[in-house]
Amino acid sequence: MSTSADTTVAAPTTYEPVIGLEVHVQLLTASKIFCSCSTRFGAAPNTNVCPVCLGMPGALPVLNRKAVEFATLAAMALNCRINETSIFARKNYFYPDLPKGYQISQYDKPLAEHGFIEVGSDKKKIGITRVHLEEDAGKSLHEGFPDADKKTAIDLNRTGVPLIEIVSEPDIATPDEAYEYLTRLKEIILYTGVSDCNMEEGSLRCDANVSVRPRGRKELGTKAEIKNVNSFRFIREALIYEIKRQVEVIDAGGKIVQETRLYNSHEGKTYSMRSKEQAHDYRYFPEPDLLPLVVDEKWKAEITKTLPELPEARRARLVKEYGITEYDAQVLTVSKSLADQFEAAAKAAKNPKRVANLVQGELMGRLKARGAEIEQSPISMKGMAASADLVESGAISGKMLKDLYDLCFERNKDFPEVYDEEGRPQQSTDTSALEKIIDDIIAANPKQLEQYRAGKKTMLGFFVGQVMKASKGQANPQLVNELLIKKLE
Ligand SMILES: [Zn+2]
Repeated sequence: MSTSADTTVAAPTTYEPVIGLEVHVQLLTASKIFCSCSTRFGAAPNTNVCPVCLGMPGALPVLNRKAVEFATLAAMALNCRINETSIFARKNYFYPDLPKGYQISQYDKPLAEHGFIEVGSDKKKIGITRVHLEEDAGKSLHEGFPDADKKTAIDLNRTGVPLIEIVSEPDIATPDEAYEYLTRLKEIILYTGVSDCNMEEGSLRCDANVSVRPRGRKELGTKAEIKNVNSFRFIREALIYEIKRQVEVIDAGGKIVQETRLYNSHEGKTYSMRSKEQAHDYRYFPEPDLLPLVVDEKWKAEITKTLPELPEARRARLVKEYGITEYDAQVLTVSKSLADQFEAAAKAAKNPKRVANLVQGELMGRLKARGAEIEQSPISMKGMAASADLVESGAISGKMLKDLYDLCFERNKDFPEVYDEEGRPQQSTDTSALEKIIDDIIAANPKQLEQYRAGKKTMLGFFVGQVMKASKGQANPQLVNELLIKKLE
């Protein structure tokens, strides 16, 4: 290859994506954020409403204390600093599902700021700019009522449901990282118990901001916002598509326009929905009907007390306490309830470590072979603990245990049930039957016997193996050992 100056051509520009995510999470309060209407999902349209959430003139909002506590708890779990004073603001815009003409949100003084979530094996910190409280808007319905082909209906049950908005810094560098960030975020929120994060019911919604810039450049490119994508997988796909699209536009000499785009998951493409309003178009101003929100040290301390052990810390502890691998700790902590079940079962068992070993060595492999997640396991954590105890007490052998697990998977039933169905088998402790087997084995292997008696004690393992095989795994290994040594000596 020539390196002379006259043949130098400009290297093709490589681009790096810059991604930021905005996640809305519905808080699991029984009533709405500014009135006492129920937040229950699935009620008949427009039945959970009152003058406050309908935005009737003169109706005054009253802040729900529980919503503040949940939002604060979530923000703490996301490593945010809680602002002692935050301000509610009106975000003004017109939309049919927003009868007041504004949404009560927080703007320049949010509840919490400066948090982070760690992603990847290198624990890269993705910054969280802010966590703020706001009310949800209503919902436009396009189906499920008469004349739905000609009309749009409005359901205001969701109006005033408490949300937190979690805004990340543009620290996310790849669609995979975005996926991981969302996975970790959901996991953390689920651990705190402040939301069910159910994407189908809209309790977790995500918008993504994405731009590209020539690698190494500081300033950001023009971003597009991708809205209302209803699964983490689709977010990743939408980002992959959108990054490619932007690079192609720029490479062809075009310009990216700031706009909102929608993702069509059937086609795997994003489409322009509208050019983006600038933030000042919302004419934010402080909400005159609500006092500044004050979360003082005392209240903060009370909320801190309700902060559970979070997934990252729990994983580290499980690895240390039960000697399981990082990977298995990851699997066992996907939900708080699974981790709780595992630990309760392990603690109740005679030997917690054995439960962990069986989950790791026997359960995970069978699940993997079936392509199943641990939530779909036929054997519960309680069942794992019960089976571990049977091995621990010598009632069944390891071989019998494996066979019973296989039956559990075949029949899709939990361990205690299958163990009963099989007539509660016990490994053989019938000494005379075992002695007969041992005598036969010794008689059939004179050479090995000679070696053993000549001082090669490791031959014991050979004999144990033969006896176990002859007993089809039903013999109690400890008893076999004892009897063998007696006979061999
Ligand atoms: Zn209401």
